[in-house]
Amino acid sequence: MTNSSDHNRSFDVVIIGGGLNGLAAATVLARAKLKVVVLERRSIVGGLAAGEEFHPGYRSAGVIHDTTGLLPELDLTSHGLRRTVRPPPILAIGADDRALLLHHDPTEAASELMTAGGRDVEPYSRFRAFIERIKPFARRLVSELPPDWLGDGMADWRAMLSTGIALRRLGKTDMMELLRLGPMSVADSLDEQFTDPLLKAALAVPALRGSFAGPFSPGTCGALLRYETLARGAVVGGSDALVDSLVRAAEAAGAVILTGREVSSILVSQSRVTGVACDDGQPVEAGLVLASCDPKRTLLELLGARELAPGDEQAIRAYRMRGLTAQVNLALNRPLRFRARPDLDIEFARTGVSLLELERTFDAAKYGRFSDTAALDIHVPSIANPQSAPPGHSSVSILIHGVPYDLNGGWNDARRDELGDTVVKQLSSYVDDLDSAIVARQVLTPADIESKYGVTGGHIYHGEHGLDQLLVRPTRACARYATPIDGLYLCGSGSHPGGGITCAPGFIAAKTILNRRGRRS
Ligand SMILES: Cc1cc2nc3c(=O)[nH]c(=O)nc-3n(C[C@H](O)[C@H](O)[C@H](O)COP(=O)(O)OP(=O)(O)OC[C@H]3O[C@@H](n4cnc5c(N)ncnc54)[C@H](O)[C@@H]3O)c2cc1C
Repeated sequence: MTNSSDHNRSFDVVIIGGGLNGLAAATVLARAKLKVVVLERRSIVGGLAAGEEFHPGYRSAGVIHDTTGLLPELDLTSHGLRRTVRPPPILAIGADDRALLLHHDPTEAASELMTAGGRDVEPYSRFRAFIERIKPFARRLVSELPPDWLGDGMADWRAMLSTGIALRRLGKTDMMELLRLGPMSVADSLDEQFTDPLLKAALAVPALRGSFAGPFSPGTCGALLRYETLARGAVVGGSDALVDSLVRAAEAAGAVILTGREVSSILVSQSRVTGVACDDGQPVEAGLVLASCDPKRTLLELLGARELAPGDEQAIRAYRMRGLTAQVNLALNRPLRFRARPDLDIEFARTGVSLLELERTFDAAKYGRFSDTAALDIHVPSIANPQSAPPGHSSVSILIHGVPYDLNGGWNDARRDELGDTVVKQLSSYVDDLDSAIVARQVLTPADIESKYGVTGGHIYHGEHGLDQLLVRPTRACARYATPIDGLYLCGSGSHPGGGITCAPGFIAAKTILNRRGRRS
């Protein structure tokens, strides 16, 4: 990896952005013997997944907690990637220190579920079995180029037909159940199946990530199914370790990665891309440009609306990117111990008493406020990665869903501090003497996420995960990675199949390009 600005060889492909998807695309294209350069504006790669020191001696593992959704096709094991066998257990904590250590595996989960009367043991087992059965279909959807639903060519009909056949292969009962559940609200669906409010709230949290939604919003059950069907073992060492192995894979294949190089515009001649211009004034020429930054930034800022037909411009402006997630990193001078399970080293925890409580948080966000009882999505990276804090200390990352980008009155230092205080107060209700253990804290509001990572609206997934925006992402004209500009492709989380630690948008975009080239030659 270089951060020199005098690296001006000629390349076949320029990739804008060295986040997970830019690196994944670079790996695939470089393995196909194309000359690839990745241009990253920051001094480090990894984008939203990059781990960083937020206080001397304390590192975050990036803003990301959950690495269970990584798709396997990139063959990163030879570059050091390891995964746990199953998704890690999560401690769900509610009022009065009631807690549930929720294991993914229903047999392991049973004894904990018994503590709440046992009525959810069977339903949890049924829930997991259903997820297992629909996994092949769901994984197929997120691993391939999406069908062109409005296309009329033979290939389009074949793709739609084979998607239909794969759905029907689930069997009538599961197919109907999937079609019924997808558009439902996650609250209605979980209420139908389970009784324990704490279990329901804990299961609902991932369904809300990246959506401008509360648990009672329609379509959030679809987001839960997407999350659950993708979940496998977590990456050992978290997103930091994933970034390292992607860099090794991309460089081993011959890709050049340049940091500290911000692309200021995409160069076009006669509706065909010719390269990019960087903020240092240097152009980098290439016949193919893949943009892993978000679609609004790519099309409206780097390309420019003048290059788009009015309908395409209108569609990309309408694409929804209302950030709703904030992060608080805490440096603690001791291990984090929850009063509910003081003897356990807990790596992942979720607070949130009930679905109603989660909905109230969203209610506040809708009206431009943040709630003082928001659920906390907690990760302690120093458990898996002891180097991320001094010995005996810990670093703690907390994600808060329901913090609006468009805060009433706007974000400033005082409001950022207020958010930090609110989160610490919330966490203190589950952890004794927290205040005295805090060495430092870092608060990232959605506005901070926007300015730090260059993502419009500070949106964690480069665009909301509403069902409509998952079906056609980001717009019809760009839904299959190609854009109206010849040679310009999207390859970040704002493309199919959406955001998260999957590396799928970068991987499929690159494969799509190779297939097209293969067909042409
Ligand atoms: C707070 C938070 C929590 C999250 N938690 C989770 C989680 O727990 N689980 C999960 O699966 N996902 C999570 N995500 C989502 C996940 O991080 C993203 O979907 C994924 O990392 C995005 O990868 P990407 O490569 O598509 O984009 P990015 O990581 O945004 O990469 C784009 C890169 O482009 C660079 N760039 C932008 N503009 C330019 C330019 N003009 N020139 C050059 N470079 C440029 C940026 O600096 C960046 O490095 C979270 C995100 C956030 C913000």
